[in-house]
Amino acid sequence: MALAVITDPGKPWTRRSFSPRFLEGRAWLREQFMGAGMSVRLDAGANLIARLEGSVAGAPPIMLGSHSDTVPSGGRFDGTAGILTALEAVRALQASGYQFRHPIEIVDFLAEEPSEYGLSCVGSRAMVGELDAKMLTYTNAQGETLSEAIVRVGGDPAAIASMPRPTIAGYLELHIEQGVVLESNKLDLGLVTGIAGITRVEIVLKGAADHAGSTLMQYRRDASLPAAELVLLVAQQAHAFAARKDGHFVATAGVLEISPNAANVVPGGARMILDIRAEKPALVDEFVALLDRESAAIAARAKVDRERFAILSQNPPAPCDAHLRDLLGRSAEKLGYSTTTLASGAGHDAAFISHIGPSAMLFIPCRGGKSHTPEEWSEPEQLAVGAATLYEAIRLLDGQNI
Ligand SMILES: [Zn+2]
Repeated sequence: MALAVITDPGKPWTRRSFSPRFLEGRAWLREQFMGAGMSVRLDAGANLIARLEGSVAGAPPIMLGSHSDTVPSGGRFDGTAGILTALEAVRALQASGYQFRHPIEIVDFLAEEPSEYGLSCVGSRAMVGELDAKMLTYTNAQGETLSEAIVRVGGDPAAIASMPRPTIAGYLELHIEQGVVLESNKLDLGLVTGIAGITRVEIVLKGAADHAGSTLMQYRRDASLPAAELVLLVAQQAHAFAARKDGHFVATAGVLEISPNAANVVPGGARMILDIRAEKPALVDEFVALLDRESAAIAARAKVDRERFAILSQNPPAPCDAHLRDLLGRSAEKLGYSTTTLASGAGHDAAFISHIGPSAMLFIPCRGGKSHTPEEWSEPEQLAVGAATLYEAIRLLDGQNI
């Protein structure tokens, strides 16, 4: 709650990456880390990294963390929960007299949420060597480049390319579920199987704009009709793909524009963007091929041209490490907490960190599954269950062979 009140005034809860408020939040975090005896630094990608040394020289760090930035009018738990439960677990271990063998690092990754520069997971991309020179040239509405913004918050974009990819013993990220699986099944924790890949497909349909009063039905080439059929097809097929139970599968027609969008004009154009998320790339390929085939056929039947069918972006899924997931599961079991396995349909920094080392995620419930809204809420007890499970998992991981 102390971090949450560092918000843009009149717009709770807003702490956008790169904003003065974001830096205030980080100053607060820095104090908490230092209060726990951790050293704090920024890497070239402006990730805030708190570190506690371990007793075994040269051992790779156990990395924990998440992000402290929010979406506009977002919640108080998305991201923040992962950083602060990690800090609480480390503080509790210290208080118990526990001697760490591995170094411990808690990372506040820069700009996990989509930033004003049109990019999300900026810091975790930088850390794993996937923030390329082109991305650094992306600009915000004022024309500032991402590179300039990273300098402004203390990073060194020129050094990102040569930054060594860290070697880690493992990465653990606690996060609110942002869905209702845990709450509706009255479960304490979710062991994440993987983070779904995201594919975006754009379809543009072109018919003819005509007078809505004088153009008889049989003479129309209404582009909204095949678009409407496609919205239904996406939902029906997504249900069918999900029913195969071959991992997480969802698809959404989130953008639908018709033009000219006037009450007295037959729609001459339609544009849609579809968002497809799955754990299995083969299912996505099959779904996209089906959409390609069916959209062409539906458009032809409506005497409308399918002007464009394009994959706008395709991020692959990121499976979580099975060994670390098992370790989280054993930790929960030891403490008597109930668990289930589930996939993450939302993207997370862990997806990028999984490219450099074993990574796993632990979900705690949030009320009504609500997230990215001021109503977002997890009970203190639910956060405590997550922190206690991290505490056990860190001990287990730290005790393993180095
Ligand atoms: Zn998040």
